Amino acid sequence: MSSPTTDKASSTDAKTSNFLRQIIEHDLAAGTYAQRRWGGSPGDAAHHAAGPLDPAKIRTRFPPEPNGYLHVGHAKSICLNFGLARDYGGVCHLRFDDTNPEKEDTEYVHSIIDAVKWLGFDWNGAPDAPPYQASDYFGFMYRAAEHLVETGHAYVDEQTAEQMRLSRGDFGKPGVDSPFRARTPAENLARFREMRDGQHEDGSMVLRAKIDMAHPNINLRDPAIYRIRRATHHNTGDTWCIYPMYTFAHPIEDALEQITHSICTLEFEDQRPFYDWLLAQLCQGGLLGAPPPHQYEFARLNLTYVITSKRKLAQLVYDHKVSGWDDPRMPTIVGLRRRGYTAQSLQLFADRIGVTKSDSWIDYATLEGCLRETLDHSAPRAMAVLDPIKLVLTNWDEVMGQGRVGTLDDCSAPVHPHHPELGQRQFKMGHEVWIERSDYEETPPKGFFRLFPGNKVRLKYGHVIECTGAIKDEAGNPSTVLARLLPDTKSGTPGSDSVKVKGVITWVGVADASAAEVRLYDRLFTDPQPDAGGKDFIESLNPSSLKVVTAMVEPSLASAQPDQKFQFERHGYFVADRVDHVPGQRAVFNLAVGLRDGWGK
Ligand code: ATP
Ligand code: MG
Repeated sequence: MSSPTTDKASSTDAKTSNFLRQIIEHDLAAGTYAQRRWGGSPGDAAHHAAGPLDPAKIRTRFPPEPNGYLHVGHAKSICLNFGLARDYGGVCHLRFDDTNPEKEDTEYVHSIIDAVKWLGFDWNGAPDAPPYQASDYFGFMYRAAEHLVETGHAYVDEQTAEQMRLSRGDFGKPGVDSPFRARTPAENLARFREMRDGQHEDGSMVLRAKIDMAHPNINLRDPAIYRIRRATHHNTGDTWCIYPMYTFAHPIEDALEQITHSICTLEFEDQRPFYDWLLAQLCQGGLLGAPPPHQYEFARLNLTYVITSKRKLAQLVYDHKVSGWDDPRMPTIVGLRRRGYTAQSLQLFADRIGVTKSDSWIDYATLEGCLRETLDHSAPRAMAVLDPIKLVLTNWDEVMGQGRVGTLDDCSAPVHPHHPELGQRQFKMGHEVWIERSDYEETPPKGFFRLFPGNKVRLKYGHVIECTGAIKDEAGNPSTVLARLLPDTKSGTPGSDSVKVKGVITWVGVADASAAEVRLYDRLFTDPQPDAGGKDFIESLNPSSLKVVTAMVEPSLASAQPDQKFQFERHGYFVADRVDHVPGQRAVFNLAVGLRDGWGK
C-alpha cells in the first residue's frame, strides 16, 4: 500500500540537509545553547535564570503580523520553522508580531491560528497553547529603551522626518550627526519619559539608537527605535502613545522567548548587525539572558503566476477581483485549502523546494505536482462528464432487455485502482448515457480514436459500442450521438476483449447520474511574474481563470462531503467545495489540479 510518494510526503523521514540544518546540528554538537534556562514563559534574564535548563533543544518561531491572511510563502516559513523544531527536539513559537497598532485585526489572528493548525503544527510547547503576542512585551521594550538611554546608547531626536532623511546620507555619503545627538543621558531620559507621558505631538520626535552616523551599513546610522503614535492598540488599548519600531522590537521578542535560531527572509540581512548590536547591549546590561538568539536569512518563496504579498492579495479581495480571501484561485492558505490542497501536499512542497540563500522562482507546476502526488494515492475515483451530450444506444432494448424497455445493467469499478480494500463503486448503464461532447466528431481529425460514424470504442467499465452518427440541432451541431452496443463485450466478462478498440471513453448513465456545478479554475494571472519589477499585476489578471459548468456525475458522488477530494477519471482532481457544497442539496466541485497526462486519444 505504501508508495514512494506517500513516503516522501511523510514528515518523519530523513530530510535533505540544508544550511540551516547544518547550523543547528553544529550548535547542538557544540552545546551552544545547552546552558540556557527556561522560565516557563517569555521573560527577561532574571525570569529565565530562575527556571530549569531549557528542555527544548532549540527554539524557533513563526512571527506573522496579523494584517492579512497567510499565503503559500508563509506556508514555506511555517513548515521550515515548525519542521526544524520538530526534527531537532525543539519548540517552535507562534507569535503575533502586533507591535504596529494601526494594522492589526482579530479576523486575521483567527485565520492565522487556523492555518498553522491546519498545516499540522502545535506551538509554544503544548497543544492549544495560546500564541505569544509581541505587544505583551511593550513594558520590557520600554525598559530596554530606557537602559539604552541611560547607558548613552540612545537619544531623543527632534529633527523633522525630512531633516532626518537628509542627514542620513546614502551609500556613497556618510550621514551627519543630529544637533540633538550630544544631549546627556539625563536630558534624554527626561525627554523620553515626556514622550511616553503624552507631552509631545505625534511625529514631533523619536528615540534613536546612538551608533555611528558614518557607518557603511545605513541601518546602523542611528536607527529610530521608538515613535510617538496616539493609536488604540487591540491588546494594550490606550496604555501607550509611543510604540517601538519593528527593528527594535523584533530582536527583543526573540530574546525574551529564548529563541535560538531566528529564521527570516533575505531582505532582513542588512538588519542583522543592528539585531546583534541591540541584543549585545541588553545582554551586557543584564536585562536579557545569554547567549542571545541569532538571525539567519533564507530566500523567500517566489512562485510563478502567483503573488505573495499580503498587501497585493488584499487589493484583489477589496477590489472584488476574486470572491474573497478563500477564493480557490488565491494563493492564501484558505484559498489553497478550498481549492483542494491538503496540508500534506504543502508540506511536501516545502520539503521539495528546500531552503537556499539566493532568490529564485519556483515553477507553479512544482506546487501542482505535489498536490497530484499526494492525492493520487488517496483520492477515490469517480466518473464525471463535464460537457455532457446524450448518447443513445439504439439496440439496447433488443440486446439487453430482450425487447423490454428500460432495462438497466449494473456496472462497477474500483474506488481506487491500487487499493482494492476500498471496494467498488456501483452505477448503471441504460439505453441513454452522457458522454463528453468532445468525444464525438463527425469528421475525425487524424489520430482521433473516439466516436465517429463507423468507429468502435469502449464505454469504460461497460460495453464496446459502435458509432452510427448523430442527430443535429437547427444550427447543425450534434445534439444526440447514436451508437449500437456490441453484445458480449462487457468489461470483465469472458471474451469481452474479443473486439479490439483504440479508444475508451468515460460516461455516466442518464438513469442514475446527477447534475453538479463544477468550477474549472485556471491560473489567476497570465504573466509568470505578475508583480515583478513594479508591474501592475491587475493588468495580467487571467479573464478565464474561472469557468463554471454543469456536469453530470456518477451516483457515488451524491454522498460526497464538503472538502472531500476525488479523481474524476481522465479529467483531474476535484474537491467538493467547503463552502457551497451541501450533500443532498447542492453539489459543487472545484478543479484542484488536472492530471499530469492528457487523456489518451
Ligand atoms: P507580506 O509581504 O506578504 O505581508 P510579510 O513578510 O510582511 O509578508 P509577515 O507576517 O511579517 O509577512 O511574515 C511572517 C513570516 O513569514 C516572516 O518570518 C516572513 O519571513 C515569512 N514569509 C513571508 N513571506 C514569505 C515568502 N514569500 N516566503 C517565505 N517566507 C515568507
Ligand atoms: Mg512583515
